[in-house]
Amino acid sequence: MAKEELECSFCGRKKPETSLLIAGLDAHICDRCIEQAHGIVIEESKESDSEDLSAELMLRKPQQIKTFLDEYIIGQESTKKVMSVAVYNHYKRLLQPPSNDDIEIQKSNIIMVGETGTGKTLMAKTIAKMLNVPLAIVDATVLTEAGYVGEDVESILTRLLQAADYSLEKAEKGIVFIDEIDKIARKSDNPSITRDVSGEGVQQALLKLLEGTVVNVPPKGGRKHPDQKFIEVNTENILFIAGGAFDGINRVISKRLNMQAVGYSASISDDVVDNNNLLQYIIPKDLKDFGLIPEIIGRLPVLTYMDPLDGATLRAILTEPKNAIIKQYKKLFSMDEIEFSITDGALEFIVGKAIEYKLGARGLRSLCEEILTDAMFELPGSDIKKLNVTKAYAEQKISKNTIKKLKAVS
Ligand code: ADP
Repeated sequence: MAKEELECSFCGRKKPETSLLIAGLDAHICDRCIEQAHGIVIEESKESDSEDLSAELMLRKPQQIKTFLDEYIIGQESTKKVMSVAVYNHYKRLLQPPSNDDIEIQKSNIIMVGETGTGKTLMAKTIAKMLNVPLAIVDATVLTEAGYVGEDVESILTRLLQAADYSLEKAEKGIVFIDEIDKIARKSDNPSITRDVSGEGVQQALLKLLEGTVVNVPPKGGRKHPDQKFIEVNTENILFIAGGAFDGINRVISKRLNMQAVGYSASISDDVVDNNNLLQYIIPKDLKDFGLIPEIIGRLPVLTYMDPLDGATLRAILTEPKNAIIKQYKKLFSMDEIEFSITDGALEFIVGKAIEYKLGARGLRSLCEEILTDAMFELPGSDIKKLNVTKAYAEQKISKNTIKKLKAVS
């Protein structure tokens, strides 16, 4: 074939009409067809991504979900178990083929009650990581009723869309973690006294998202603008996980337990009540007494609690999870060929300070930063290739002032 007669075997364009013609064994392809084919490859791989998700979900049974959570989260056995089942059922519901037996599996939205820093956010993040679905973390305190200063509840879905890179299909199977749900509890028993724009009104607005509906979502977030284009998001298959510290709910629980004990109807009598961990006895009614409206409680049917973190747990958090803080420092130093180690005494010292000053698990990282900042500044590029952090070394780096500073930020 003469050179000028060459043509694209896909679209038939002659060589002069193309910018580029690539030769194969018996055929040619032009630049435009390459681009088009590339587009098809991308589309196809997107589709198979969502098939992957289904396949993945089918594979992981509740026990396997829990094993995954165990790698990242220390303790919290009860919540891990409850979460594993809830997440499994949620996605089973999602994958159920249409049937005509009238049995509709309801959503298993979750509410986690536990002091701050006990791992509620970590739990939601780990689940999302395992499922490879987008996760939006939102703070209930910034939400207000539509029309008031603050964010409308729809902004939650904007965040989810952003987390999903604006793939509607992915967002509609994502997870939303609503933090500080306790902060939108009803402020008083008589809602008519003052307009409660950030309390019960927000709970009402959240209801429709939780139950599964199609919501018009402003893609860029923020306030609604009449001229802004909306994206329709169906929340039917979005898993909502709410979390909150519910400060003071211990009193509600303890009061109820005492009343039960007096009335001899108690399943838990006084002598077996573990007063150090009253949250384990929580029931939906306690949330109602705290100020959540019954409809919200009904839409968050899986109720679970976080154990307070004791010394042994804090110690384990430092060293055991897959991306434990100490493991991270080891890696950071090893990148500069510095061998990093830390003694048990130093670890206990850090845990002791975190407990003494009530810094919680979040404080562990800040304490380590304080102890190691000097070394991280000085050692790279120096002749020192080994760092062993002892209790004495740690003590020397942590002064009263640093503790004050850490307390202020935690
Ligand atoms: P919460 O959402 O309950 O306030 P977070 O999940 O934000 O708490 O926890 C704060 C940090 O503390 C996490 O980033 C994690 O490093 C650590 N942490 C807390 N609890 C645990 C736990 N049970 N296992 C491992 N790490 C934990």
